[in-house]
Amino acid sequence: MPPNIPAPIRRLEEAVVNRIAAGEVFTTLYYARAYIIPAFLMQRVSAGLIFQIIHRPANALKELIENSLDAGSNSIQIIIKDGGMKLLQIQDNGNGIRRDDLPIVCERFTTSKIRSFDDLSNIATYGFRGEALASVSHIAHVTITTKTADSKCAWRASYSDGKLVSPRPGVSADPKPTAGNNGTQITVSVKTEKLNVFHSPDFYINNSPAIQAEDLFYNVPARRKALKNPSDEYSRILDVVQRYAVHNAGVSFTCKKQGSNLADVHTPTGVTVADVIRQIYGATVAAELLYLEQELPELEIKFKAWISNANYNIKKMVMLLFINRKSICIRHWLFGFAQNRSVESANFKKTIENIYANLLPKNTHPFIYLSLEISPRSVDVNVHPTKREVHLLNEETIVAAVCGAIQDRLKDANSSRTYLTQT
Ligand code: ADP
Ligand code: MG
Repeated sequence: MPPNIPAPIRRLEEAVVNRIAAGEVFTTLYYARAYIIPAFLMQRVSAGLIFQIIHRPANALKELIENSLDAGSNSIQIIIKDGGMKLLQIQDNGNGIRRDDLPIVCERFTTSKIRSFDDLSNIATYGFRGEALASVSHIAHVTITTKTADSKCAWRASYSDGKLVSPRPGVSADPKPTAGNNGTQITVSVKTEKLNVFHSPDFYINNSPAIQAEDLFYNVPARRKALKNPSDEYSRILDVVQRYAVHNAGVSFTCKKQGSNLADVHTPTGVTVADVIRQIYGATVAAELLYLEQELPELEIKFKAWISNANYNIKKMVMLLFINRKSICIRHWLFGFAQNRSVESANFKKTIENIYANLLPKNTHPFIYLSLEISPRSVDVNVHPTKREVHLLNEETIVAAVCGAIQDRLKDANSSRTYLTQT
């Protein structure tokens, strides 16, 4: 099959779904978050009672961006209205979705990315559970316009609660032919009656185990108030886009508010990581970046890092952490870790902060972008969430190895600087 024609979307076999739901994968994905996701919720996850948790618009957008990347796009354009509370739109130039797959694409456990449980051991995509679009379509009206390279026209379909729905009264729900370029455009407009869907994990801790599936949309006034702050939501969205833009340098990302001519993030196609950092985080930091790259076969890890040197400092640390997507559990864990300030993140961050404490003025911080590749084999996907130490052990070793290398790199740069000033 030519690379630009997508694989068909199929419903995962029940046996695969059950193994995922039984926690063999799912709980591992949330492994490090098991501290914050209480047991009763995990049981409900296992029982298939609830959908993937979408905390807030930025989470939904992250899923959509990952889908565009999985589809091989090199251009991703995002339009946001009211911090994503009203509208999220993402347009990519990827493989598209086959017309025949449109009726099931928003159902649960439908995916083009894996077929069998064994495929999970060397998964090369961000997604594989076929849950994101289903979850999104339960809280929002979703419209998909998509064209594969072998189709004469694009197709448009609308969804609600996982199913095709008619876009207007008197019109059938079937996908409609339309004009369009190769790729996919997904429009998500949150159902206003479900505006309170984006709960923090605290919500699930603070509420009784008796919450039923629909109660995920339970009204928590304080939470809703926070979510009524679109500029806060928009900055979370920009943060997600910026992280992905750096980590996927070469793919063009654009993000702007609806109706604005000015993009808040814009990165060109085919540029380097340093170019993207310059574009997003500024020329000052880009001029002071040190690069390091290492492979540690004994730990089965490889990493690349772009770190600021001793000439640069900022008030608030910028830390972009990515784990190669082939290692499914760790990647999810660390992405959450970078964004959710879990205990582990404090540990990793502290180690780096300590290194820089000797180099930077008091109360100032570095810029760090770290991309780790870990062999899926070095992480046990079948580990049970109660055995925390497996991940912690892994984390300790990885943190020590990576931070050691960062320290050495900074030392090198510093001594060559001293040398230069002396001569
Ligand atoms: P997953 O990513 O786990 O497969 P999703 O619910 O995110 O599940 O997406 C379901 C399927 O829809 C994907 O497997 C893919 O085939 C298709 N899809 C979603 N978004 C896109 C996109 N932007 N371009 C091409 N295909 C897409
Ligand atoms: Mg996905």
